[in-house]
Order: sequence, then C-alpha cells, then structure tokens
Amino acid sequence: MVERGQRLRALALALAAVGGFQCPATLQELSAKFWEWRARTQPFSTDDIPRLERPQGVRRSWSAASVAQMRTELAALRSCQRKRADGSVDARLLGSALSRVRWELDLNRRWRRDPTFYAEQALTPVLEALVKTPAVDEPELLSRLRNIPSLLDEARANLIDAVPAFAQLALASLQNIRGKLELLPVKDDSVAKAAEALEAFRDWLRERLPSMKGRASLGRAAYVDFLQGVALLPFAPEDLLALAKPEWERCVAAEALEQRRNQGAPALRLFVNIQEQIDAYVRDEGEVRAFLEERGVLTVPPSMGHYLVRPIPAYLDALGDFGEQDDFLGHDGVRFISPPSDQLGYFGRANARDPRPNLTHEGVPGHFFQLSLSRAHPDEVRRHYYDSGPNEGIGFYGGLPGAARADGCAHCACRGGLVRHQPGPGDLVPDRQAADPAAFGRGAAGAGREVLPAPLPRRALAERQRPALALARRADPPLRPEARGLLF
Ligand SMILES: [Zn+2]
Repeated sequence: MVERGQRLRALALALAAVGGFQCPATLQELSAKFWEWRARTQPFSTDDIPRLERPQGVRRSWSAASVAQMRTELAALRSCQRKRADGSVDARLLGSALSRVRWELDLNRRWRRDPTFYAEQALTPVLEALVKTPAVDEPELLSRLRNIPSLLDEARANLIDAVPAFAQLALASLQNIRGKLELLPVKDDSVAKAAEALEAFRDWLRERLPSMKGRASLGRAAYVDFLQGVALLPFAPEDLLALAKPEWERCVAAEALEQRRNQGAPALRLFVNIQEQIDAYVRDEGEVRAFLEERGVLTVPPSMGHYLVRPIPAYLDALGDFGEQDDFLGHDGVRFISPPSDQLGYFGRANARDPRPNLTHEGVPGHFFQLSLSRAHPDEVRRHYYDSGPNEGIGFYGGLPGAARADGCAHCACRGGLVRHQPGPGDLVPDRQAADPAAFGRGAAGAGREVLPAPLPRRALAERQRPALALARRADPPLRPEARGLLF
C-alpha cells in the first residue's frame, strides 16, 4: 500500500512537473507527441535504421537535471499510454516504444556504463549532419560541434559504473580524433574546442581504466525484460541462442556450397573506377524494382525515391567509427562508398564487384525501401523503426545470397529468380577463391542450377527447432558454458 502511494505521488509530481501536460485523445496523437519528444531526447546511435530527423539546433544534454526531466516526461507519457491501452496492436507498439526508453535509462544504462556512448553522443550527430545531400547544413554542423564539450563534462560525472572493455573501445575510436576533425569542411574554432574536449575525455578514460569495475553483462532478468517488454518476442534468451545456432549453420553451409560450386569459375573483376560502380547501382536498382513488380513479389510505388551511392568525402570516411555513412531519411537513400579496391573490407570488396547483394539488403526491397514505406504509413504509430531487428530481418530474407554468411541465405529475391536469367543463380555468390568470400558476381559457372536447399515449410522448421528449444530450457545443465558466457 505504501509503495502504491509512493508511486502515485511520484506520478502526480511527474505530471505537475511537465506543466499542463494533457494526455492526447487518441493513440495516434500520443504517438506523435512521443516521437516529437524522442527526436529531441533519443540518444544518438551508430545504427542508421532507428535514426531520426532532429529539430534544428537542439541542445543535447545528459546532465543529472536532463536525465531527471527525461524520467519525468517518460512517466507522464507512460501514464497516458496506460489510459489508452485498449489491447490493440497500436497500444502495445507504443508501450514497447516507451519500454525502450526505460531500457535505455534503467536497464542497459549505457549513459552510466559505456564510454562509447559519449563518443557517439559527441560525434554521431556530426556524422549525421555530414551525410546530408546535396549540401551540408553548416549552422547545424557547428551547433552539434559546439555541444561536444558540455556532453563530455557530463560523461565524466555520469560514468560511475564504467566497463573496462567498453572504455578500451572508446579509446580506440578516439585515436587521432583531432586529425579527423581537422578534415571537416568548416572553418570555426568549435572544431579545435571539440578536439580538445575529446582528447581530454580520452586522457581521463585512460587514467581511469585500471580502476574501472563495471560488468559488461546485464544479467538474465534484463534480457528477459527486453525481449518481453521491448521486442515483444515470446522467447527466453536461451531460446534465441538455440534458434540462432541452426540459422548460423545454414548460412555457413550455404556459403561453403556456393564456393564449391563455383570452383574453377573465373574470378569476378573489380569495377574499373567508382563511376562504373555508381552506374551499376543505378542500372541494377532499376532491374530489381522491375523484377519485384513483374514477378508480383511486391509493388514499388512510383513515388518511391531511389537508393543511390556517392563517392565518400575524406572527412566522412574518417568518422566511420561513429555511424553508418548513409542517409535514408530523405526522398532518395544515399550510401557513401570508397573507390573499388581489394583493400576494402568484406562488404566493400563485394560491392566493388556486384552491387546487388548490398542493393537488395540495404536499398530495395531492404532498409531504405522499408523505412520510406513506413514513414508514409497512414497510422502514425507504425511509422518508426525504433529497433533495427525487424528491418534487418527483412533485409536478410529479402536480399540476395551475396555475402551469404552475413546477409542471409534464404534470400527471396534470389530464389524468386532475379538473377537466374543473367547469368545464373550461383552467380552472385562467392567465387572459387574460398579464402575470399567477398568475390562473387556475374558470369560464374553453374547458370540455371539450383544449389541452395529449399526453405523448410514453417511447421517443419518448428519441428526441427523443438528439440533444441527443449534442450535449452532444461535446467541441468541450462546452457553450455560458452553460451552462458554470452548471456550472463
Ligand atoms: Zn542491414
């Protein structure tokens, strides 16, 4: 009874504190209010899928007062959501979006535990300003740079439970940060001040590192809370591990099979230069869109923008640790790329030979396409991806088998026949160089032959997974040691 009284008093205080906060009349209006609030307060993240358009010049803060205000506003919004909770899908979705804020503040607590969180709060907004086309908004870029020193002061006050491994990651990302910021396309003393503040933060981390005692793991209860309250998944953490294992094995097996099948096929050539690669993206995007329509896979509204690639400027290339170098918030989706080279990473090398695996995963019908469709959804509640999981799932299954291991192997676009006629279904997959999984593409041997195992019907899949799930739930032993290490 006392606890209930305290909760009610806290709620009354919260509602009073947000002065005149009226619960909106509908879930849709409440959702609009929630997302307007999130655009001001949601932590910046290196992930591009939950990225939001932010109000111009918004001042970001993780001071004690700002966090207290965030909690107050969250409580007020939660109270409104409960009043409107009618058991509908929309009410549950909004509840999940609110639970995500609680996850950030009280369970995952990156603002208390993770120094990379502050590297991101400082520099991801800068990156997000730099990916805007056709021109960078200079006043906005400067506003974000000027915010950096105070954010890092707050970081020092907040990181009371820092995890040493996370601090090491932050230190690595902040190496030569001054040199990177000096590449920025602005001349202003805020650049030097930001660099100074970041270097001071780096020194502070280095000094504190030996005494940091935070634990990386959140504990099982927190993961259960996330799965039930935020992800709305009916699984225990152990179930996810059990489900992931056969998925992983299926992908690795598919990649190995494709490499075997393409033994003896000529290696794919790199695009001669970046312009050839840009042109290939334009041509292939058109083909993918036509394919989706012609085969009745899904419709592509004529108003839908295009997924484009552009050469990456040096200042943006330098900030790769702080976010995805793309912008999917505009009419067209833009990804910045490096010139074709064998020195690039796994995906870069793949895309420098054939854009289609990347195009179908990230462009159409993948991330950019899904984000654009969602933003135009008539129901306000359903316009946002606040976790990249579902959208990555669409990219995974919608994509081609290109980077089979990382990008999925059920790829409906491939199985639907997108590449069968030109030059074959095996053509997009790793070539004969088993050690070089990035090389795949047109003209490989085996045109027209089926290679990948057909996806199992849903029920068969469930049957197959049942023993694994049962095993994972068994109390003795509950998990293998390596799995336990991942979770607890
Ligand atoms: Zn993805």
